[in-house]
Amino acid sequence: MMNLSQKVEELENLTIKKLKEKIKSIKKELPREEQKVITFSKNFTLSLSNYCQNQCAYCFYNQTIPKENNEQNIVLIRKDKIHELIQTATIYGCTEALLMSGEAPDNFKVVQNELKKRNYRDFFQFVRKLGELLLNANLLPHTNIGVLSFAQLKSLKEVNASMGLMIESTCESLSNPGGVHENSLSKTPESRIEHITNAGKLKIPFTTGLLLGIGENFQDRVKDLLLIKELHRKYGHIQEVIIQNFTEKIGINYRPIKPITIEETLKIAGIAKIILGNDIAIQIPPNLIQNYEKEAIEMGINDFGGISPFTLDYINPKHAWPKIDYLDKICESNGYKLMERLPIYKKYINKKGFYSEKIKKTINSINQDAGSKANS
Ligand code: SF4
Repeated sequence: MMNLSQKVEELENLTIKKLKEKIKSIKKELPREEQKVITFSKNFTLSLSNYCQNQCAYCFYNQTIPKENNEQNIVLIRKDKIHELIQTATIYGCTEALLMSGEAPDNFKVVQNELKKRNYRDFFQFVRKLGELLLNANLLPHTNIGVLSFAQLKSLKEVNASMGLMIESTCESLSNPGGVHENSLSKTPESRIEHITNAGKLKIPFTTGLLLGIGENFQDRVKDLLLIKELHRKYGHIQEVIIQNFTEKIGINYRPIKPITIEETLKIAGIAKIILGNDIAIQIPPNLIQNYEKEAIEMGINDFGGISPFTLDYINPKHAWPKIDYLDKICESNGYKLMERLPIYKKYINKKGFYSEKIKKTINSINQDAGSKANS
């Protein structure tokens, strides 16, 4: 049996040709009809509050970073904005509502005051109620608002089809002076692992992933993929892993010594496929690797994630989402079929205990709507 350093060395030395061969043979283990499918979810984002108790050096989202154009830092998303987004999402036929915010925004007085004005006890209650509102509008929430307690995850499971938290990187030195997490006291590898573990214990279909190019090295990446594999082996709840490359942004101080390249990102996606196999979907956000989609498919990705027809990628606002037609053409010209999925993957809809009654009801209602549209 190989130890970690031997495994890392073997993976690092793999040529792209060899990597592609290995990926091909892993995919051959899938049923034939699944081998040539790439999925995506039609979603929109509700950016709830930019206030965050951390200040990760690479972050463009938190309230300390001035935003450009019409986008501003939000204390708490307005009620009329929520209704406007729901209405537009319904017109576009979105099924997933991505709820995102900074971590623990109600640690700030200005957010507390706004919540009080609107009769909410705390931010968590606001998010829970918003989940209910979205379900009533036939939209399936997927919440990623930073680290939560077991009790909070348990409560949010009731109103979320799936949830997410990037592991990003568990490399300890990122929290040292000069590291990207130096000013992010609550962003410890332990707290994120605990969150993902608790989601597993609670049977929450879960999205996690690596953020590349923030000061971690190849060995750290392999170690984190093995960690995700182990968490999934124990709890069976990781439905997808995002391989996300850091992109440079104006307005932040972080400038990597050696920026991550798209080629490196693609190679890590391929290595993720080798480590995680066919049981977990591998995803690269297509807006971050534009013009390399074909290469990403060859590296074993089988999901393009949430694509919004009308809201921004708030983490990478300069990188517009591609049109679904554009992805469709790329898939088709490479012999693949692009297929829409819900924020909860099919296999979890069939897995007992992985969704609440409320979620099941909304899934049924979405499926009924799709059925009657198809027959009309
Ligand atoms: S925790 Fe998230 S929102 Fe907060 S500073 Fe870090 S990356 Fe930004």
